[in-house]
Amino acid sequence: QVGDARAAQIPRYVRVNTCLWTTQAAIAYFVAKGFTLSGPFDSSNNRGFAEDPHIPNLLQFHPQISFQEDAAYKDGRLILQDKASCFPAIVLDPPATDEATVIDATSAPGNKTSHLSALMKGKGTLLAFERDRKRFSTLKMMLSKATCKNVTTINADFLTTDPSDSKYAQVTHILLDPSCSGSGIVNRLDYLLESEQDDDTGQEDRLNKLASFQAMMIKHAMKFPNVQRIVYSTCSIHAIEDEHVVREVLKSDEALSGPFRLAPAEQVLPQWTRRGLPDEMDDPDHASSLVRCLPGEDGTNGFFVSCFIRKASTSKRKI
Ligand code: SAM
Repeated sequence: QVGDARAAQIPRYVRVNTCLWTTQAAIAYFVAKGFTLSGPFDSSNNRGFAEDPHIPNLLQFHPQISFQEDAAYKDGRLILQDKASCFPAIVLDPPATDEATVIDATSAPGNKTSHLSALMKGKGTLLAFERDRKRFSTLKMMLSKATCKNVTTINADFLTTDPSDSKYAQVTHILLDPSCSGSGIVNRLDYLLESEQDDDTGQEDRLNKLASFQAMMIKHAMKFPNVQRIVYSTCSIHAIEDEHVVREVLKSDEALSGPFRLAPAEQVLPQWTRRGLPDEMDDPDHASSLVRCLPGEDGTNGFFVSCFIRKASTSKRKI
């Protein structure tokens, strides 16, 4: 693992895979191994840990603790996932019913897919798309290790799906965590990275290209006839990939005809105080609906989360 000074302030986050055991059992497991519930930075021997105050089933440990050799990591009971990367599935809030149909449009390596599956309690159907063949293999391996029962993996480009196909008629929730610059990641786990991070020397052209692709993905998701909730996230701290993408999409034909709007702040991690950048939005009030994480400040990598919801129809139903 590599990183900068800010990485030392980020606890090692471990998500308890509730498909396989409970958080109470995981806490007992760590206590039996000599850890104490005294906080990730508390004890002199780095053996302190805590439950995360914002994300259920997430534990925080000292940054220097490694779990790669831990039996519960190896058998899929523990998933190494940064706190901010747990936000999208929580905000999407997928239904845990037998009828539920949810799409993860950009899945590999699959941490958010397995999180969605756990939140759905293994019920319904979770369609996990990944276009890259090598990353698709990693996805399948990670999901099998996590014992996700309701996931169908699809090695295809999400943009080639036909939203009007009857097999997607029941899709109500879509998670979009597409390729981005990765500029927010300061304690990267290399297997999670898709490409090299940019070096802050501009690369405006590259960011603009990423932003057009990201907007295209959201607009495509908006074409699914029954979709009610779409979460768009990045591990970028650049407004070009975050607020600017959201503000462009809000003006698009797809958003206007949906019609889609941003979910109100109370539906998007209301307890998290760092919100979007008002100056980067056409309507500064929209910033309260957006979530940001700042490396070095928030105990996480840099991250951005937004959530579009279909506006309830105002037309009166015929009786
Ligand atoms: N959500 C993943 C997780 O938490 O483990 C990380 C996703 S990563 C940021 C983006 C992924 O989307 C990459 O694996 C990339 O190959 C894939 N991807 C990019 N464009 C895609 C598309 N049009 N259709 C399907 N997958 C795509």
